[in-house]
Amino acid sequence: MFVVKTFRFVQVPLNLQLRTMHLLKNKAYINGEWVSARSDKVFEVTNPATGEVIGTAPDMDVVDAQHAIDSASRAFATWQDTTAKERSRYLRNWFDLMVKNLESLAKIVTLESGKPLVEARGEVFYGNSFVEFFSEETRRIQGEIIPSPVANRKILVEKQPIGVAGLITPWNFPHAMITRKAGAALAAGCTCVIKPAEDTPFTALALMELAHEAGFPKGVVNVVTSSRGNAPGIGNLLCQSPLVAGISFTGSTQVGKLLYKQCSSGIKRLGLELGGNAPFIVYKSADVDSAVKGAMGSKFRNCGQTCVAANRFFVQSDIYDSFVEKLTNEIKALKIGNGEEPDVQVGPLINQAQFEKVTTLVQDAVSKGAKVLVGGKGAPQHGRLFYEPTVLTDIKDDMRVYSEEVFGPVVNIFRFNTEEESVAMANNTERGLAGYFYSRDVSQIFRVARKLEVGMCGVNEGMISTAEAPFGGVKESGLGREGSHHGIEEFTYVKYVALGNL
Ligand code: ADP
Repeated sequence: MFVVKTFRFVQVPLNLQLRTMHLLKNKAYINGEWVSARSDKVFEVTNPATGEVIGTAPDMDVVDAQHAIDSASRAFATWQDTTAKERSRYLRNWFDLMVKNLESLAKIVTLESGKPLVEARGEVFYGNSFVEFFSEETRRIQGEIIPSPVANRKILVEKQPIGVAGLITPWNFPHAMITRKAGAALAAGCTCVIKPAEDTPFTALALMELAHEAGFPKGVVNVVTSSRGNAPGIGNLLCQSPLVAGISFTGSTQVGKLLYKQCSSGIKRLGLELGGNAPFIVYKSADVDSAVKGAMGSKFRNCGQTCVAANRFFVQSDIYDSFVEKLTNEIKALKIGNGEEPDVQVGPLINQAQFEKVTTLVQDAVSKGAKVLVGGKGAPQHGRLFYEPTVLTDIKDDMRVYSEEVFGPVVNIFRFNTEEESVAMANNTERGLAGYFYSRDVSQIFRVARKLEVGMCGVNEGMISTAEAPFGGVKESGLGREGSHHGIEEFTYVKYVALGNL
């Protein structure tokens, strides 16, 4: 008799899938070796979707960080003399391995950050593209010969690597924030000490395994993991150490300001990518469907936890009702859940502090008269850190959501009448990272793009970041640029050599 066997498809949780994976490391990476903290202390890392402990990482302190700085400093002595072609090869090897391991990297990102797997794949793809771009761009770090006012003299200008770079990264893009900084620093000829966020150290360590396989010499790239408690000490050491030439930080404005102060004593090179408060303006000439699509991408990627996320929506009266209705319908259809499940679009917030912040900001707005069209509360049926995608209208400028970055799945909508009014409201903030607007009026496009006080402007686009373009802000959103050739400049200095008496 012919027997048909049926198998029930059993979904294997990511932490079980990953247990055997060679990329999941529980040691830090210093001087080409996998090491524990000198104190032997560790800290736990949890999956924000389930609250389960994924594993532990070394809880390093200033002693370990000094070891990493010393290694990077020794490695700089020879790495700075590598040719651009050699550095290009190392970076390309690293990129190729990241491509080969994309799925494993994405699973680690989902496990520790909670973002849906499809978004984690997108992040890895995006993060990889920086290493690819910088592997190419390193060969185009050009000098100059400037005509001299003295006949027998030549003015040569050369770009040199600044030295050891301290890179402090956040949890919201655990892969891409490292590759965007380290790719540029390594391409410029710098060596690196990376301090990843305490919520997401495993992605950083997986990248180190691949850097190791790519053959980077010992000490060229190092990762020091630590709990939140040890982060200020390590940060301070990186800022104060005479062996560190520059700091590149992505994170909160509060910590960014502290690092700015700490770097002042040694006049250190500093790159800061801090918080945003992005306006998203929809003018009456806009294609409303396209604006809704852009709004969904800009707002709900990573559950609203991106520094370029639209934070304040300004919609012109003529199309207000149509935009709000269409956007609300899209939001109601979003699927919330554990990012490991295939069609989930909105995962959890990263941790309890973030959950409380979003809850408090929404309560503040509601207590001051905001209307909740959808959501407005936690979603405990999915887990402790889930928050319902939310739409608030009737927002006023005395509500905290107006001036603070929500960093959660909350849409705040204002109605406006004139272009002047929209630009004035959009610029009425200390932040200036990204800004978006939708319009099909070409004169308005040029006028508004010029007037918005932001470092990056999306016109009829909700997602604008790419390795080829300079990423960064104005006002309190930061200093310097990442990505593009500008990103490499941050890690080089200009040396003028006068050749006299020729
Ligand atoms: P968030 O509030 O989103 O976690 P933070 O700015 O606090 O953003 O964290 C971003 C990164 O900065 C993380 O790697 C974190 O460990 C690190 N960090 C936190 N406090 C300090 C500090 N005082 N000095 C240096 N780094 C810090």
